[in-house]
Amino acid sequence: MSVIEGFFKVWPFLRRYRVKIWLSIFFAVLVGVFWGANLSVVFPVTTILMEGNLQDYVEKQLDELQEQTTSTEAQIASIDRELESGELSESQQVRRLDTRAEHQERIARATRSIHWLNWTKATILPWVPTDQFNTVAMLFVILVFATAMKGICIFIQSMIVGSVVELTTIDIRKACFRKCLKLDYQTLTLEGTPALMSRFTFDLQELSHGLSLVGGRMAREPVKAISCIALAFLVNWRLTLLSMFFVPIAGIMFHRFGKMLKKASLRMMESMSRIYQVLEEMLNAMRVVIAFGNGARHRKQFHEENRNYYNKSMKIRMIDAFTNPSVELMGMGAIFITVLPCMYLLLRKTTTIWGVQLADEPPDIPTLMLMYTFLVGAVDPVRKLSSIYSKIKRSVAAADRLTKFLETESRIEEPKSPRLLPRHQQHVEFRNIRFAYATKDGKPRPDALCDVSLKVEYGECIVVVGENGSGKSTLINLLPRYYDADRGSVLIDGVDIKDVALRDLRKQLGVVTQDTQLFNATIYENIRYGAPEASRQQVEEAARLTGVTAFLEQMPDGFETVVGEKGAALSGGQRQRIALARAIIRKPSIMILDEATSAIDSQSEYQIQQALASLTKDCTTFIVTHSVNRTLLNFVTRIVVMHEGHMIACGRHEQLLETCPIYHNLFKAQMNQRAA
Ligand code: ADP
Ligand code: MG
Repeated sequence: MSVIEGFFKVWPFLRRYRVKIWLSIFFAVLVGVFWGANLSVVFPVTTILMEGNLQDYVEKQLDELQEQTTSTEAQIASIDRELESGELSESQQVRRLDTRAEHQERIARATRSIHWLNWTKATILPWVPTDQFNTVAMLFVILVFATAMKGICIFIQSMIVGSVVELTTIDIRKACFRKCLKLDYQTLTLEGTPALMSRFTFDLQELSHGLSLVGGRMAREPVKAISCIALAFLVNWRLTLLSMFFVPIAGIMFHRFGKMLKKASLRMMESMSRIYQVLEEMLNAMRVVIAFGNGARHRKQFHEENRNYYNKSMKIRMIDAFTNPSVELMGMGAIFITVLPCMYLLLRKTTTIWGVQLADEPPDIPTLMLMYTFLVGAVDPVRKLSSIYSKIKRSVAAADRLTKFLETESRIEEPKSPRLLPRHQQHVEFRNIRFAYATKDGKPRPDALCDVSLKVEYGECIVVVGENGSGKSTLINLLPRYYDADRGSVLIDGVDIKDVALRDLRKQLGVVTQDTQLFNATIYENIRYGAPEASRQQVEEAARLTGVTAFLEQMPDGFETVVGEKGAALSGGQRQRIALARAIIRKPSIMILDEATSAIDSQSEYQIQQALASLTKDCTTFIVTHSVNRTLLNFVTRIVVMHEGHMIACGRHEQLLETCPIYHNLFKAQMNQRAA
């Protein structure tokens, strides 16, 4: 049941394909029917081989039944006479009545059989050749035909299921992608790129694998088994019931294994995530790895994770390897406890064993053959089912992980009824901000920001300084809502940014993050990313202002040079210039530059800062920097000093030099450095 439950979670994705699903179930049933029909051919074939042609066999049966009915009727009549004579004691009477009822039942059965035999005689036998060999040949032709039909049904069914599985996988993949875009930055970083990547690759593959099995074999095989068991019931329900002895045992076994499998599968997927993690880390930090000559260390780490994965997957394989033979054994057992009594009844020409009635009539050889065939026909699909059990369980675990991810709530909520935010033109205010980064295990972290309050007028240019880890980035990252303050609020023109649609808010921002991130596209495209509607002229202008044009000549294709993954084909300073151009082309009302010129040489930095002086006139600007120089001081309105999450000072340069010792030290250190 848990299998169905597991897949129930992905039902929202499957629902839109329900017509196809019903169709596939229909074809699965057809496959089962053809399977049962194929196996039923055994009966006429053995009959013909044992008893002569079918016509004779039916005649003989009819005669026998007729005879039997006549004799039974005579017996009933004699019982009736005895009862009427009134010479019997009470208990004798009861016994006679019982026997009479039995006889009557027998007549009813015989009548039914006669009816069916007559029907066969009238409708089927005229088509059947009288010659034994011809009949068998015809049956084999039918067999081939039915197998072909079954094959066609399997083909159609597989195609339908395949398309549903592929489409659903694509839908889920897209939903995961959308979810990634929708989730906030903090949640995503906590989860980590490799773990997310493994959702898109490994987990999704496991799920789609399971879905195809569920839609394919798991839909067909039970129908096959059921149709065989149903036919076996028709032949002899008592004996078939005996074979059901193993069903509860198998049930308990699968339940146990199911739980173990699910746990092991989840562990395995986590383990795969970690393999991805080691891989990603190594690839990303390739240059460090090479420079430090630490390949062996990474190899060892990778080896460890792989061994871990091996252990997890061997557990699954062990269960897997165990189920198949044990199910086969149980199937054999089921055949044994059914066919052996049947054989006994056949050879002893009786209907009871140890007083237990097991058949209406002593079975004949065709009946025995038929029983055997149907049971084998039922055991085979069950065995096949058991062999896919672990794969299905794995895929349920994958469905679990995927749906859990899809249900993850973003820490950043879109307001239900967002307020409009016209282009910012009054002030930006941080009001009593307190913030601590979240952890994966929910352990509290020290506050990254404590009680920060700052009001900035439109058009101001604020420089934020402070030691590493003092909370500068954390503070300005509140503006694009990478995360929300735990307490306090950020207001733009008096509107809490939590009440503004995220799109509206971010439309107004031009951000250059501390670690420059470019896309694997041309320089031109990377700049235009900031404003897709920008004209070529505007792009060129932005490139000129930020010093991109200056290095274009060195590029093989100028503007059309592809920058490589994450801009790997460029130097750090070049990347930063492109990132700056990308930010200013937006014509933002709030510009956020987080150490945006840290890698740019002083000469170019000077030029860029001069350009910034004019650019920042019609926007409010926040600049995080370590190098407070004259050019910058010319257009900076105020300087904010951060220290251990606190805003310890805010004012003009000269004023801070006197009143704030920390700023004094920072600036002096920088001056000494420059002088040296
Ligand atoms: P900086 O002033 O150098 O920009 P940050 O604002 O980046 O400093 O960091 C402030 C504090 O928050 C640091 O102590 C740092 O350890 C912590 N911190 C920064 N980013 C994260 C993060 N993503 N998760 C957890 N802690 C962080
Ligand atoms: Mg920083």
